[in-house]
Amino acid sequence: MDLLLPRRCAGCASPGAHLCPRCRQTLRNPPRRIHTRVDPHVPVWSLGPYAGTHRRVVLSMKERRNLAVRRLLGPVLAASVTHLQARGELADALVLVPAPTRAASARVRGGDPVADVCAATGLEVCDALRHDRSVGDQVGLGVEGRRRNLAGALELRRRPGGRVLLVDDVATTGSTLAASSETLFAAGCDVVGALVMCHA
Ligand SMILES: [Zn+2]
Repeated sequence: MDLLLPRRCAGCASPGAHLCPRCRQTLRNPPRRIHTRVDPHVPVWSLGPYAGTHRRVVLSMKERRNLAVRRLLGPVLAASVTHLQARGELADALVLVPAPTRAASARVRGGDPVADVCAATGLEVCDALRHDRSVGDQVGLGVEGRRRNLAGALELRRRPGGRVLLVDDVATTGSTLAASSETLFAAGCDVVGALVMCHA
């Protein structure tokens, strides 16, 4: 495809690289603690607001089979985990658990973007959660609607063997993270936090 389309930065559309040095610098900012309207029962950190570079990069990684950007975001996510570990806010040994994606979205996007980014971190990943019934799109739903849409909708497909850090692309109300942590806690798993690429 590179022969047909000029390569453009996922963050600012400047030609040349999948992610230009300036956008990489922006994404390298330390993650910060955020508070969502629905409480996921664990601390949540975000790489940045759902705006500007962060928003464009997340939209770009969701494009169908945009594996190049997903691979580049792996080290960005890994650096944030290392940063939180260095600050003493996260334990050293962690298993990343990607928040589940609706099967229909994954088909449209050519795989699950969040799972692909997690796989590119080089850290241990467990694909622990899935939707156990058809779940409607969360877009356009309010806090209560999102909570009801997801209630009892997740199931454990395999058990992570260690302390869990949940990972998602965008935290809006926190309902996906809450449903994920509740499912893992109910199965006796040790969830210690959640890391998102953006918060809306
Ligand atoms: Zn850029």
